[in-house]
Amino acid sequence: MTGGLARDLAEILGPEAVLEGEAARPYQRDSTEMQGLAGRADAVALPSEVEQVRRLVAWCYERGVGIVPRGGGTGFAGGAVPVEGGVVLSLERLDRVLRFDPELWRMQVEAGVRTGRVHRLARESGLLFPPDPGAAEQSTIGGNVACNAGGPHSFKYGVTAHWVTGLEAVVAGGELIRVGGPLRKDVAGLDLRSLLIGSEGTLGVIVRIWLRLTPAPEALIPVVAAYPGVEAGVAGLGRVYGYGLVPAALEYFDPGAVAATRAAFPGGLPEATGFLVVAEADGTRQAAEALAAELAEALGEGALEVRRLGQPGEIRELWRWRSGVSFAVSAQLGGKMSEDVAVPVDRLGEAIAMVGEVGREHGLRTCSWGHAGDGNLHATFMIDASSPEQVARATAAASSLFARTLALGGTVSGEHGLGWVKREQFDRQFGPAEAALQRSIKALFDPRGLFNPGKKLPPAG
Ligand SMILES: Cc1cc2nc3c(=O)[nH]c(=O)nc-3n(C[C@H](O)[C@H](O)[C@H](O)COP(=O)(O)OP(=O)(O)OC[C@H]3O[C@@H](n4cnc5c(N)ncnc54)[C@H](O)[C@@H]3O)c2cc1C
Repeated sequence: MTGGLARDLAEILGPEAVLEGEAARPYQRDSTEMQGLAGRADAVALPSEVEQVRRLVAWCYERGVGIVPRGGGTGFAGGAVPVEGGVVLSLERLDRVLRFDPELWRMQVEAGVRTGRVHRLARESGLLFPPDPGAAEQSTIGGNVACNAGGPHSFKYGVTAHWVTGLEAVVAGGELIRVGGPLRKDVAGLDLRSLLIGSEGTLGVIVRIWLRLTPAPEALIPVVAAYPGVEAGVAGLGRVYGYGLVPAALEYFDPGAVAATRAAFPGGLPEATGFLVVAEADGTRQAAEALAAELAEALGEGALEVRRLGQPGEIRELWRWRSGVSFAVSAQLGGKMSEDVAVPVDRLGEAIAMVGEVGREHGLRTCSWGHAGDGNLHATFMIDASSPEQVARATAAASSLFARTLALGGTVSGEHGLGWVKREQFDRQFGPAEAALQRSIKALFDPRGLFNPGKKLPPAG
């Protein structure tokens, strides 16, 4: 921490809004901590007003100081980690719900409002904010927008971008820009909103967001299908698509993921289970019942068991089990490296097999699970995270995984973004023309390269 810089910031924001020493430590890391990533911020700033964000950004921009926006620090790509120093600009004190119009299905929030709080507020008024990334009690709406976060219910409802109708952001020099608003349609200009969504803090600091909500479904009915192996399970998923069924969520768990979590599965699983599909029907009671029956039929062929869960307690237990999958897999060997690759849905079976092949080539145990309906895998190499040799092997395996994912027509990131840990994949995924265009856009927004330096789209070469 640079004392002089912290003193200057304290003059702009007030001393209580600048952290130093032990208090600043948690802001040097995010969920990539297990991979050993840590930064060293020159200062940590916690503004509580948009005007303070403007002054802070203007100050940094004038002096050439890097700015690392931060929400809840749950990101899996190291995006909020101040790897190259600079000022960590935490949005956590910008946490006001500015407006909530339940009868108009919309809400305006500051960027630091926690995702779980939006879920609860919406639910209390019979509404739904569908994006449901797994760490909703810690992550912020600003972080979700900056990463364009997904989650299990993206299959039917889409990712965060589908639920943002407008936002305000502080950009180069401390200018506040407003794009969109409480509008359901707007094609007046170029779509700056879409550029900012998913920009991972590299174009500016998102400070206020207009969210779209939808009436909550009356009923939820999960349908669980257990299979002896991958082939039968993937065929079941194919039938769900082919029959034209649209469950809210359509998740899969491969043999390794089943083995790591089966003991905690609500109601247990047949002994021979080697692949699991969890679908969730929602809608009016009648529509959910009808869809659940169709899902059971589509998933039934080749299954060891197909089960409907109906009681509220059971559904809560199922999703609690789902939230624990990542931790249960980590517990196998004490750590893991998980990559959120995505492929066209017709290549999902190949992608699941490919994870195992890459693991075998690198002498690593693997498993995968994820959002089957979106072709989005959590491709995982299980390691002892305290062994530098195993971390190096998993890193090499991940590199091979990315190359093979691209060969399947996929993407290196379906939902977590590139941040710092996957920045080298940028030029692998995009051809020179697309990469140059993206870098030109970055330069237009951020001519001095001060917003989240080195992240997502690193300088060419
Ligand atoms: C257990 C667990 C489960 C998860 N499950 C999912 C999942 O299902 N789907 C999914 O998509 N993700 C998931 N994630 C990843 C993570 O929760 C999401 O990426 C989330 O959107 C990050 O939000 P955050 O507020 O924690 O952002 P941070 O981690 O603080 O930041 C993430 C990135 O956004 C930028 N940023 C943050 N706030 C702003 C802002 N206001 N303006 C500009 N840039 C900003 C940061 O600079 C950084 O680049 C999971 C994480 C964990 C730990």
